[in-house]
Parts: sequence; C-alpha cells; structure tokens
Amino acid sequence: MNLTDLTWPAVAGLAKDIPVVFPLAALEQHGHHLPVFTDSLLMGEVIRRVADAFADRVLFGPLMWLGNSDHHLDFAGTLSAPPRTYLDLLNGLAENFLHHGFRRLVFLNGHGGNDVPGKQAVFELRQRHRQRDDVLFLFGTYWSLGTGSAGADAACTQQEMGHACEWETSMILRMAPQLVGDYQTAPDVEFGRPFTPATRGWITQERTKPGHIGYPRLATAEKGERLFERFTRDVSALLERVISWNGKDWNG
Ligand SMILES: [Zn+2]
Repeated sequence: MNLTDLTWPAVAGLAKDIPVVFPLAALEQHGHHLPVFTDSLLMGEVIRRVADAFADRVLFGPLMWLGNSDHHLDFAGTLSAPPRTYLDLLNGLAENFLHHGFRRLVFLNGHGGNDVPGKQAVFELRQRHRQRDDVLFLFGTYWSLGTGSAGADAACTQQEMGHACEWETSMILRMAPQLVGDYQTAPDVEFGRPFTPATRGWITQERTKPGHIGYPRLATAEKGERLFERFTRDVSALLERVISWNGKDWNG
C-alpha cells in the first residue's frame, strides 16, 4: 500500500512489523539522449511492477527524487542534495518512522550516488538505536540485489550498470520511448580502470564528456523488458525476506 493514500488513523492501525520501503532516486544529467529524471522514472517503474504482489504486506513511501548527485553538477539541469545533507535526510526519514512505531525500514535505491550516504545512514541508525533488538535497517540498490552478475543475462553486453548506458537506455526505451533521443550515434564510453580495487574520488566530467558511461547504442526495448523483469524479481525476493524475518536473528 502507498503511504500517500492513507489517513493518519489508517497508518496508526497498521501492524508495526510491516516493512516500510523508501524508494530513493535522483534528478541528474543522463547524457544527450535520456531525460534528467531517468533514475526516478526507472525506480518508480520497478516499484510499480513490484507493488501489486505486496499490496497489504508492505508500506511504500513516495519516491524521493532528490538524491546525492554532486558529481554530476558540471552538467546542466542536475539537482543535488550534498552528501552530508542527504545523509541527514535519510536519517531523519528513518527516525520519523521509528517514532511512529515501525521496525523494518528498507531504503530501496536507484541511483549510484546514493550508495555511500545510504549505507552510512543505516549504519548510523543501528548505532544510535543499539539498545533495540527488534529493528532492521536495510539499504539496497535494485540492480545489485541479484545473486548473479548482470552478465548472467546473455542478452546484454554490459556486465555492470553504467550511466545512461545500454541498461538504462533499454529500460527507458521500454517504458517511455518518446523520451529517448538519438542513442544510436552516442559514442561508446568505457568504464575504465580507475586504480581499482582502490576507490577513487571522482567527478563525472573526468570520465565522460557527453555525460553517459557505457554503450547506449546497444539498447533495445526487449533488453529493457528483460532487465525490468530481473530487477522486479530481485526486489521482490528481498522484500519477501524482510517480511519473513523473525524480528530478532542476525540471519535473514
Ligand atoms: Zn541513472
């Protein structure tokens, strides 16, 4: 069910072990061929596909479209909550729901820049509420939840999520083709090897001039449908685990 549709007495009457899901996304540049709302559109579509199966078992918050996109600020149209602001925002949202009695919080993410502050938020929440033994704080990114790598899907050339890439372009082609510009002539932009396995601080401008990373020209709506189906399965499996968690154990 959607939080936005409920009255406050209806929220007050919910069982407090029901998982609360906050979808997180972004509004940021996605190259010359995809709209700035791409991450929010894609996260919204995955949630839409998942939601029916959890109609009365999960409480979905509205999608948080403002993400941490500081690394894209050199490109016009990008809006960003700076990392520490975003961290505070996620902490505050989670505290609201703890205050209302809920115990199982899931940040479901659809934007790479939210990854570090999102993981930090669930870490901080657990430390702050260390006296509790009945809470679950999770953060997960929808394209990283599967057991196999993306390459397990032989239909796609890309082995990982890029940016406005084969994957994202395929999914937007599937759900809103009228929003896709000329992706066939977009140049390939390699992922590179930026001192891996060390983690390098980066800004998007130093990795790509057009704004995308990956191979948009390989996109098709059929690949988009396969990706959506896979991510819908992965997210659904995670939510089933959260629902069936016994409320105490480390293993879930
Ligand atoms: Zn994206």
